[in-house]
Amino acid sequence: MHFKTQLIHSGAGPDRETGALNTPIYLSSTFGYGSAETGRARFGGEQEGYIYSRMANPTVSALERQLASLEGADEALVLASGMAGVSSVFYALASAGDEVAVIDPVYGGTAAFLQQTLSRAGIKVRRYRDDGHLLADLDPATRLVLFEPLTNPDLKVNDHRKIKAAADRVGAITVCDNTFLSPYLFKPLTAGIDIVLHSGTKYLSGHGDIIAGVVAGRRELMQPIRTLGLKHLGAAIGPQEAYLLQRGLRTLALRMDAHLAGAARVAEFLTAHPRVHRVLYPGLHGHPGHSVLAESIGAFGAMISIELNGGFDTASRFLDKLALFTQAVSLGDLESLACHPASTTHAAMDADSRANAGVTDDLVRLSIGVEDPADLIADLQQALDSL
Ligand SMILES: *Cc1c(COP(=O)(O)O)cnc(C)c1O
Repeated sequence: MHFKTQLIHSGAGPDRETGALNTPIYLSSTFGYGSAETGRARFGGEQEGYIYSRMANPTVSALERQLASLEGADEALVLASGMAGVSSVFYALASAGDEVAVIDPVYGGTAAFLQQTLSRAGIKVRRYRDDGHLLADLDPATRLVLFEPLTNPDLKVNDHRKIKAAADRVGAITVCDNTFLSPYLFKPLTAGIDIVLHSGTKYLSGHGDIIAGVVAGRRELMQPIRTLGLKHLGAAIGPQEAYLLQRGLRTLALRMDAHLAGAARVAEFLTAHPRVHRVLYPGLHGHPGHSVLAESIGAFGAMISIELNGGFDTASRFLDKLALFTQAVSLGDLESLACHPASTTHAAMDADSRANAGVTDDLVRLSIGVEDPADLIADLQQALDSL
């Protein structure tokens, strides 16, 4: 099946009992097992069957089957948030004394987790400046490498082929946070990456109405992550959120096509506007990661950052003039969003780390929604002209 058909048909199918086309929302915390013998067999892992919704729920299981098929994974795990996915992967696969590697910048929540929480478990976190540095000197003691193919908010490109080559040399597990691209544009597992992670809050659900996380990969890696995320951390997603994620997922391809087309047009407009100092968008030919992304993935996402040549004052005047873009963090919603990372998502960083992450005071990040691009351009134009 092609990906667009899989989005509609995989993991779904009419409910066996009622014929309902959509997955029923099983609002049940516990499941009766009928006899003491069945209880013993289920708890002993000898018999399949639902026991308690922190461990498994039929609505969530249907979604997990669909995601596994979309990612080309043995198994997918859906959790209460993207951060539950990040923390479960690290806690399940790294132990005290191990080293883990990340390529900067990583998502702010991930960076804070690694620095403030994971390091307290005796796990050393090494940060690399880019994929080239990782390839040149990945420490042989590295157990796990986490990267984002498109970084936030500087929209740098990390080449998954270089990262896999470096990790293979030292026998490290590769983990790709693919939130910015989605499996419609890139399927890391089919490119030899070991684990894919998503914030399901963003493009996968697509409507800005839930918080969710997804992890997918080979069975032997997924089993400890599942146990840790669900049984131990207790980061189970509720069945209503799982239903909404499944519902949103079905239109992923339609939405992504609209996001991508809109972003390409908006970026072209921004490049030509004299008030915009720099446009960070890998779809532009002048972007340093353009050819790598064009050749390795073939799509550029729908996030655009711009520098306005000024400071917080200039950025805030621009943002406050926007009428169609909503000032909010997050991304991948139907509506276009705009934010000022230096004073919001990256405000907790010290000035040096912020500068290293490319988060200048005049940088504004845009998540391009699915509105008519002409209206988005008109809105940006009036805000830029007012500066
Ligand atoms: C939002 C985001 C996360 C965290 O996901 P939550 O659902 O907010 O917990 C992780 N990585 C990336 C790249 C994100 O954009």
